[in-house]
Amino acid sequence: MYSPSLLAYSLLGLLLIGALASLILGLRPRLQRMQRGRAETPVSAEPQSGFLGRELNAGTFLHRALLTERLWGRLPTGLAHSLLYFGALVSIAGHAEYALEFVGINVYVEWPWWLLTRPGREIAGICMLLGAAFLLARRLVKPAPLVAAGERKGFTAMEILLLVTIVAGFVTESFRLAVPGENRGGEFLGAALARLYAGWSPGAVADGNMTLWWLHGLLGVSFAALIGRTPMSHMLLGPLNSALVRRRSGIQMPPIDFEAPEEQEVVLGAARLADMPRKLLLDFDACLGCGRCHEACPATQTGKVLSPKRIMMVCGEYQSQGRLDDAQLLDDIGAEAIFDCTTCAACIEVCPVSNSPAEAILEFRRNLTMERSEMPETLAAANRNMESRGHPFVGTAANPDDWHKGLDVPLFEAGKTEYLLWIGCAIRYEERAQQVARAMVRILNAAGVGWGILEGERCTGDPAKTSGNELLFVEMASSNIEMLQQERVTQIVTMCAHGFNAFDRYYPELGANWTTIPHSVLIDRFIRDGKLEVVRDEGELITYHDPCYLARHNDITDEPRSALAAVGSLIEMPRNRKQSMCCGAGGCNYWKGGTSGTARINEVRTKEALDTGAKKIATSCSYCLLMLSSSASVSGGERKVFDIAEIVADKLPQAADALH
Ligand code: SF4
Ligand code: SF4
Repeated sequence: MYSPSLLAYSLLGLLLIGALASLILGLRPRLQRMQRGRAETPVSAEPQSGFLGRELNAGTFLHRALLTERLWGRLPTGLAHSLLYFGALVSIAGHAEYALEFVGINVYVEWPWWLLTRPGREIAGICMLLGAAFLLARRLVKPAPLVAAGERKGFTAMEILLLVTIVAGFVTESFRLAVPGENRGGEFLGAALARLYAGWSPGAVADGNMTLWWLHGLLGVSFAALIGRTPMSHMLLGPLNSALVRRRSGIQMPPIDFEAPEEQEVVLGAARLADMPRKLLLDFDACLGCGRCHEACPATQTGKVLSPKRIMMVCGEYQSQGRLDDAQLLDDIGAEAIFDCTTCAACIEVCPVSNSPAEAILEFRRNLTMERSEMPETLAAANRNMESRGHPFVGTAANPDDWHKGLDVPLFEAGKTEYLLWIGCAIRYEERAQQVARAMVRILNAAGVGWGILEGERCTGDPAKTSGNELLFVEMASSNIEMLQQERVTQIVTMCAHGFNAFDRYYPELGANWTTIPHSVLIDRFIRDGKLEVVRDEGELITYHDPCYLARHNDITDEPRSALAAVGSLIEMPRNRKQSMCCGAGGCNYWKGGTSGTARINEVRTKEALDTGAKKIATSCSYCLLMLSSSASVSGGERKVFDIAEIVADKLPQAADALH
């Protein structure tokens, strides 16, 4: 085989070792900066320890890092990345052939290895070429998501370097194939290029080969050496981030231990990077600035100040400048952006490198609320109301018992009653939502199960938690846990997705030990177990709005659909299941209200639902119900938005009253 000398191979080998050392040295300061963050707060449902306080999640590593699953959310870039990534894997294996042949090991020359190393390597190289060319062209064309709210510097130069390295590889190959006897077939692109040197003398071809061999080698080595010092570090940090994803979906803000020993500092959220959990510091470094979170965020898309991408970029910039103790960060981001977030988790769901922008936002929000007492007045009023009256509905004249007027509602009996029906503040203080509980009473009675309610029920504290008031949340949750454990409650049924999430995700951290079931899941269970007989109306077209706190936060998407399909025909909105759009209520935005001069999130979502042509818009959270019902798009005489309980109760054989 025509081959460079032992000296050339040795020199290039040494340079490669140097490049790998440079890569590690480039990553080292990044990893050291991450260690300056806060230690991860333990979450009982998650395995502890491991790197940055997280255990390896082999599932997300396989799907997101190795199989590039999340990149496919956008077909052209997903395809380009995959061509580059899988092409590189085959190409690296193919390149090893040269080194092996040099030391006399000819593992690849015979069938089927020939297929991998000749046409296989050629196709892999072409895939890399196409992928790199597309990504560079995209970078130069600058599509909106890439440049909106800032662009990560350093990608363009590295993408040019990569493209030139790949092209140099093909030219090097063509010079090698131009040497008589070297063409063993299968390297079709290199062979086609080799015809260009048909008239060249053997010496000129050999010189050309050596020059290009060195050029290709040095370019490749330079690229590897620069990975750790440029945004190309995402090639390693992204997979690392995906390997450290928590088992449970959605946002996880572990409760703060306010009773920690004196020597242990209680950190009230973050105003500077050093206060952030270490894993979030990894997120800031791994961020590509791709803008997917910017595109998915309902606040950004309705013209609010918030852009999750901008927050990640600003944090990333502070981090790269080593400004980990600079509390100017929070002012640079701004309170308005921080309180715009509905905690819908859409940004977490789309991020290709498994970042959690919403958790960073909530760290800032905790600091604004608890350290600086800085929050919108409407939110502050809701928090004061929770403190003094146990619920966030300021100024409501509603009687919390009105919802069961005329109904025979049993009280929960400790040790006897199977299910505690948790009513929730929205139902107790908003007239429209009261219909949901009335429908649920009919369903529970029809199913013939033992159920009851508690007198003196207080808010779960979820609005306090999502507005950043962890102190109030812990106090409300602890008092609820004490009361519910005294009642020996074992199963709670919720009609609000936020209440379910608080009970199921956060209460166990504070000592709760019961099971919480969303009413949509229970209704579906009743239907499937034959406890609930329903009449199906195939002509009734229903579209289902997934509440963020059921779908994205808790992976509950099938059960509500199964229950609705038992009574009518389902039609999906373009954004459904875990890609659903927020109704705008989450993160305490129900009380905060809209921002003047911007579109209302609930309007956008309701229009999307109405555009399906469905007769009914169904949901399974009292806040979603209130938000979508209050949309101007559905104003008029006909009621269009219903809770799943109302729709199913209407289809019980002896439905007591019609829905409209
Ligand atoms: S956080 Fe994720 S989705 Fe958002 S810009 Fe960064 S990499 Fe892209
Ligand atoms: S959680 Fe939702 S509202 Fe908040 S930044 Fe992410 S996408 Fe935007």
